[in-house]
Amino acid sequence: MLKAILATGNSDKIIEIAAILRDVELLPRPSHLGDVDEAGDTLEDNARLKAIAVVEATGTLTIADDTGLEVDFLGGLPGVRTSRFAGENATYDDNIKKILAELEGIEVPRRTARFRTVAIACFPNGTEILTQGVLHGSIALAASGYGGFGYDPVFIPDETPGRTLAELSFEDKNSISHRGLAFRALAQRLKDY
Ligand code: IMP
Repeated sequence: MLKAILATGNSDKIIEIAAILRDVELLPRPSHLGDVDEAGDTLEDNARLKAIAVVEATGTLTIADDTGLEVDFLGGLPGVRTSRFAGENATYDDNIKKILAELEGIEVPRRTARFRTVAIACFPNGTEILTQGVLHGSIALAASGYGGFGYDPVFIPDETPGRTLAELSFEDKNSISHRGLAFRALAQRLKDY
């Protein structure tokens, strides 16, 4: 079985990725490595920064991802600032409140948005495999549901009208999600490689 370090410390993401990448033995990110400053201007740059920091320190194949929520009414924001939308140490709840406040009074047809995940595998020899997954939908008028994490309670996928990602089962979310699409494509590319 292929072994790779998963360069994320976010346990919510680790649980989803491990369920999707079942053919790869995922090793934890070494705890002595400091946090990577996600200073890139794009999701691709940030995913690459996270993976390269680990592959260079360990010499082991490393997988990383970066996810952004793009809201059309906000010109594509929060984008690369998705985790920090309500401030540097914002909680999931702070970010949900902020997005609902930014869209207050905006009717449903103008609340369109998408989640975009970039997944990357960086090999010690410098080879890189990069894939992407996009989930189209809209921002709900209010939070609903208890599953998932992050913005899931306010994101309604086009595939499940009237139901937020937080109202779907774990399996149903992974079967349609940005992360599911990106990591299933990555798994296929790793197999071909
Ligand atoms: P990251 O930069 O990829 O770690 O993710 C940025 C932020 O996006 C996270 O802190 C979450 O708030 C949000 N996020 C990422 N993936 C998801 C998801 O699948 N559902 C809802 N929110 C997500």
